[in-house]
Amino acid sequence: MTTNKNESGYFGPYGGQFVPEHLAKKLNQLYKVFSELKQDKAFNLEYISLLKNYVGRPSPLFKAENLSEIIGSTIYLKREDLNHTGSHKINNAIGQILLAKRMGAREIIAETGAGQHGVATATAASLMGIKCKIFIGKVDSERQKMNVERIKLLGAEVVLAASGTGTLKDAVDEALNYYVENPNAFYLLGSAVGPHPYPEIVRHFQSVISKEIKQQIFDAEQRLPQRIIACIGGGSNAIGAFSEFLNEDVILDTAEGGGRSFEIGHTAATLNLGKEMIFQGSFSLCLQDEKGNAAPSYSIAAGLDYPGIGPEHAYLKSVNRVNYHVISDQEAIYAYRLLAEKEGIIPAIESAHAIALAIKLLKNKNELAVINLSGRGDKDVARI
Ligand SMILES: *Cc1c(COP(=O)(O)O)cnc(C)c1O
Repeated sequence: MTTNKNESGYFGPYGGQFVPEHLAKKLNQLYKVFSELKQDKAFNLEYISLLKNYVGRPSPLFKAENLSEIIGSTIYLKREDLNHTGSHKINNAIGQILLAKRMGAREIIAETGAGQHGVATATAASLMGIKCKIFIGKVDSERQKMNVERIKLLGAEVVLAASGTGTLKDAVDEALNYYVENPNAFYLLGSAVGPHPYPEIVRHFQSVISKEIKQQIFDAEQRLPQRIIACIGGGSNAIGAFSEFLNEDVILDTAEGGGRSFEIGHTAATLNLGKEMIFQGSFSLCLQDEKGNAAPSYSIAAGLDYPGIGPEHAYLKSVNRVNYHVISDQEAIYAYRLLAEKEGIIPAIESAHAIALAIKLLKNKNELAVINLSGRGDKDVARI
């Protein structure tokens, strides 16, 4: 594969655009359209109107009194689980489908792990009347059956990626391969990963989370939170929850999918165990085997089960602005049950990693903290 390194799209040394030349042309055209439209009044009005009337934003910031009592800190939950389709993924899917529409796209493709991005994309494509193909790993399609059925109901085609471990990495590989062969398709990427300009586009459309948190916590507490906690797969809900606070005096913590144990093959702890390499179109950290190839990841949470990480997070780690912690499957399952029993909220198993981290970090600290509850847990009930 020939690579093209674009000068823009870097976060420190991380990021860039390592793709074949004909794709680089497409991606640069996408960046041009995005850069113009994000300043465009009519575009923003349409985006904001859909977020309000279709997605149901602003999502509530809920003071979780029972959890606060148990932990010994004041905890607010940012309820992305209450969005239409059940997670934060829809914020980005709506934004990108509007870009696709303006670019005259006739076909949308996307990858999915937990199925949430597949559902969000199939939903957005259905709304706009554009044909849609969703790539999902074979193993993921089995552990997230309900979402596969939802995607089909929404009128999209499901393409099983049987290669590798049959998880998110393989779905991205197959979607990228399809994109290389069909550059006229619009690739609606679901996380803050991949070649430039995706990390920047996804952050832009997810930053609505932190804009709302800032307003809502001021209204409720007349001050900023001391800490914000999010789970992290590719990094989109975390960067969305953090972006407005990067220059504020707020501690930012993330929970990676620790899996079964802290070893290659048993974990998805990319920021703690990964090495620098070019992976799926960008230079960032990635889990590696002894030969220096991307290694298979493992986490109970399909949305966190990914060996790569968005370049902005690799950068934020290198400058120590954001802390990256490891939460095991067991800790996440405990937190999943705890939130259901004590607050009447069944979280996505991904989001349960953030709850578990809050339990660890905030015990009797008497802090004011916000946890980004990235999604709801219906999809996980059968397996838990
Ligand atoms: C996809 C997903 C994640 C992980 O992806 P990020 O890009 O890191 O946010 C986390 N939680 C839920 C509910 C998801 O669907």
